Amino acid sequence: MIVMSAGPTTVSREKLDYMMKNSTNTDIDKNYITIHRETEALISKLVNTNAKSFVMLGEAILGLEAACSSLIEEGDRVLVIHNGFFGYGFKYFIEMYGGIPVMLEMDYTKGLNKDILDEYLKKDSDFKFATLVHCETPSGIMNPIDEICSLLQDYGVLSIVDAVSSIGGEFIDFDKFKIDVLIGGSQKCLSVPSGLTLITISETAESIVLNRKTPIKSYYCNFKNHLEKSGSREFPYTMNDSLIYGLNISLKNILDTDYVSIHKEFGERVRNAFIKSGLKLYPKSHFSNTVTTVLLPDNITDVEIVDRMVQKGVFISPGVGHLEGKTIRIGHMGDNLDENMIIETLKALDEVFLEKNIVLECSLTESFMKYNVFF
Ligand SMILES: *Cc1c(COP(=O)(O)O)cnc(C)c1O
Repeated sequence: MIVMSAGPTTVSREKLDYMMKNSTNTDIDKNYITIHRETEALISKLVNTNAKSFVMLGEAILGLEAACSSLIEEGDRVLVIHNGFFGYGFKYFIEMYGGIPVMLEMDYTKGLNKDILDEYLKKDSDFKFATLVHCETPSGIMNPIDEICSLLQDYGVLSIVDAVSSIGGEFIDFDKFKIDVLIGGSQKCLSVPSGLTLITISETAESIVLNRKTPIKSYYCNFKNHLEKSGSREFPYTMNDSLIYGLNISLKNILDTDYVSIHKEFGERVRNAFIKSGLKLYPKSHFSNTVTTVLLPDNITDVEIVDRMVQKGVFISPGVGHLEGKTIRIGHMGDNLDENMIIETLKALDEVFLEKNIVLECSLTESFMKYNVFF
């Protein structure tokens, strides 16, 4: 099977083999502890900072929830800046831990707009922090988090950024962008199976977590337990060594390549193929280089296409949230970035559209192969 979905992504055979080596005891094996701490340093390196990073055992949603549970105390106001499914979803975690979400909705077809935010903050900036998403994976939009987080800092508002489907695929400078908490996941651009949440945290956010008036209302969703053991030989619970080995090798591979340019090139080529075919992309601007969201004609649903693609040996993603039924998504990130795999995917899609009597202006496969970003 070819995995071209928007996460979990393909995990290369070499990485899977490497993950299975030397499974010992993560609490006692000194070699494991060294690799674990090295992996945390590599996360910070990937996002260009000396700020602390740590890894929590659990799917990326754990990081989003734990950021809210660790930072919120009863009655705290939090600004939820949203232009998509994941951005909106922060609301639920904020409410769950006693915070008051204040919703700032922006155009769902474009990237977040800093001028609108500026106008808003001029009137009201009394927030403990704000939440936002870097890559809105359901809509295929990459938000300009550099502009948004810098502006938030000008108003003294901390930022929590969901970078689950951008970390390792898009350039992130944690310090320059003025991010306070960055949340990543293992199963998107990093191409490690799902099960790890990656957290990078600023000194300001760390001091808020460590100096709360009330205790954090969870043991597992708790940054403090990780921060207090940072750099030591202990973890708050037993870690998963094969996932950490996978993350370690993945981060080293990514840091050895010009991963931002590679994602950009493939992103442009995939988008171009769909545009040339006459199909419409969902976003009007701020196209993501890690995932492409394609609007479908009215007479067909996402599930019909996705199911038929599976029969042909290829996984792509259906729509999510308000785009359920109406869109399909290709994840061109991490180990999915293989020219032959993309060609096989587009070939299968060309066939499926033909079968379903949807006439394309030209073949997706040919447009992809012909397009050269350098001309
Ligand atoms: C994948 C993803 C998550 C994690 O959600 P799951 O769908 O449970 O994997 C969170 N935020 C974003 C932006 C994501 O793409």
